[in-house]
Amino acid sequence: MEPLTSRAQVVEKKKMNLWERMYLPAIVGGMAITLKHLFKKKVTVKYPEQKREFSKVWRGQHVLKRDDNGAERCTACGLCALACPAEAITMDAAERKPSEKNLYREEKYAARYEIDMLRCIFCGLCEDACPKEAIFLRDDKIVMSEFGRKPFVYGKDILVEPMDPTKRIDISARQKKTF
Ligand code: SF4
Ligand code: SF4
Repeated sequence: MEPLTSRAQVVEKKKMNLWERMYLPAIVGGMAITLKHLFKKKVTVKYPEQKREFSKVWRGQHVLKRDDNGAERCTACGLCALACPAEAITMDAAERKPSEKNLYREEKYAARYEIDMLRCIFCGLCEDACPKEAIFLRDDKIVMSEFGRKPFVYGKDILVEPMDPTKRIDISARQKKTF
């Protein structure tokens, strides 16, 4: 039969000598490699007891920010969803009622805002696209593991930061973009 390629080589089965058939050199060589790694600096950490410091450019779970008065900054313009390459963001806009001025900064707000964390690739383009400085990727919080797919769709109950000024999420490092 014609070979498929001109690089084909005939491999001969070499007969092993007694020393090779005892496999001792191979075993000793393998053990030496294992021993060498025992004394090397470990690159793994014992998570979750031990946590690595996050890099300054690290992008974690999103937060929807409030302004200084506690009103949601997001105006449901949809630019973040448009910029998202993973199509992970879904929202429904609604019109603010006069009595809701303290809740939403603009006349239009996101009645529903969801991010599918399984689709998200944490690229940060939503943050860059937002004209209202409403969405940021936190540098201190990871998206936790779950047992199903549904809990990975994060709604406003998870994404919007607390109203309490003492519990606001600090995103000053990302705002300054010092990296
Ligand atoms: S970080 Fe990237 S992938 Fe994730 S929601 Fe924002 S734009 Fe989409
Ligand atoms: S988070 Fe920003 S970009 Fe996205 S809808 Fe709200 S205001 Fe627009």
